[in-house]
Amino acid sequence: MSALTLDRMLHPDEARSIVLARVSRLEPEDVALEDAGDRYLAYDLVADVDLPPFPAATMDGFAVLHTDTSPIREIVGAGFAGDAPGEMVALGQVARIMTGAPIPPGATAVVPVENTVMTNGRVEIRQQVVREGENIRPIGTDLRRGDLLIPAGTRLGPAELGILASLGYATVVVGRRPRVAVFSTGNELVPPDAQPGPGQIRDSNRFSLVQAARRVGADVVLSGLVRDEEAALRAAFADALARADVVITSGGVSMGDRDLVKGLLGELAEVHIRRIFMKPGKPFNFATTDRALLFGLPGNPVSCLVGFETFVAPALRMMQGAPADVAPRVPVTITHTLQPSDRIEHQRAVVWVAEDGTLHARNTGNQISARLMSFVGSNGFLVVPPGEDVLPAGTRLEAILLGAPYASER
Ligand code: AMP
Ligand code: MG
Repeated sequence: MSALTLDRMLHPDEARSIVLARVSRLEPEDVALEDAGDRYLAYDLVADVDLPPFPAATMDGFAVLHTDTSPIREIVGAGFAGDAPGEMVALGQVARIMTGAPIPPGATAVVPVENTVMTNGRVEIRQQVVREGENIRPIGTDLRRGDLLIPAGTRLGPAELGILASLGYATVVVGRRPRVAVFSTGNELVPPDAQPGPGQIRDSNRFSLVQAARRVGADVVLSGLVRDEEAALRAAFADALARADVVITSGGVSMGDRDLVKGLLGELAEVHIRRIFMKPGKPFNFATTDRALLFGLPGNPVSCLVGFETFVAPALRMMQGAPADVAPRVPVTITHTLQPSDRIEHQRAVVWVAEDGTLHARNTGNQISARLMSFVGSNGFLVVPPGEDVLPAGTRLEAILLGAPYASER
């Protein structure tokens, strides 16, 4: 990409398209059903059987002929769930039957036990009208052979795993998790268990990024803290590129004299994005090698996480086989005034369902890019267009939902 293009500040949507266009889906793998939750199905799942495979009772009661009108009937058998179908039921006869048991031959309906009275080993049917098929779940009610049950790219949740199990799958083929390396860079940084010296701070980005990556299904294979020194950074990148599909760094991409990551990315990979018309997170480096994606995020903790959620998370999901969709954008009404800035802002926000059923939102207070507290309690970003005038309460804006809206105001 030409230097001129790289210099231009990209619209966030354009930047995301550039990133997603470079994503290739990782090869699928077979995993045990127990471990397949939240993974993305690699192929269309088509039913190869009918379920239920036999007509089954949906109530505890008596299997009858719906045309039978005899008030007192002979009991000719009993069927429990798990039993093979019982003996033939004829006119004047019934078979005791439990929920889930196969309907015996001849029977065409099940009368619930509540509508019967037992006397001397015989049964009195006290239900006026019995419809054909009543309380019977016919073959193929739940799913039919040949049905497309779950399309490729679906994230497997409880119901999907249950369906796979019903069909006899002990393992399922899902997209592989991307292997991710995470590095914090900066000479001022010390690990959380160290006491910072003068001018030092504790490294927070590494822990935020590792969790953010895991939350979207990545396998974090490497993480560490690297000094702003050429040799150390080179070694870290070499290590990461040997082991990971995605390398995520924080820091070192601004205009400072020790911002070495930016230059190194240009040397090791092809750089596609340098800057985004977005606040926070203007410096955002995206580069690729023939087999890895590299994201150089800014060091400010908020800029770093906003960049991750906006651009990296969709890429990590897509690598696993998720559709190329992004977090939902919804119209919201702001309940407090907002001051726009000179770039598109992704303000951390609280979004809730108001009493009238529409979505309301407020930001989380001071939005400076070092204040990680602005993320705490938030469930999305308010997308604030650039401008000079204060936006009054009641203004309609868009929000990017990162989680479900809250059920009430907070
Ligand atoms: P940089 O992008 O390297 O210029 O860093 C921008 C700001 O973010 C500076 O104030 C850094 O001290 C701070 N910062 C950079 N990396 C981290 C980190 N891993 N954890 C916390 N703060 C950081
Ligand atoms: Mg730095």
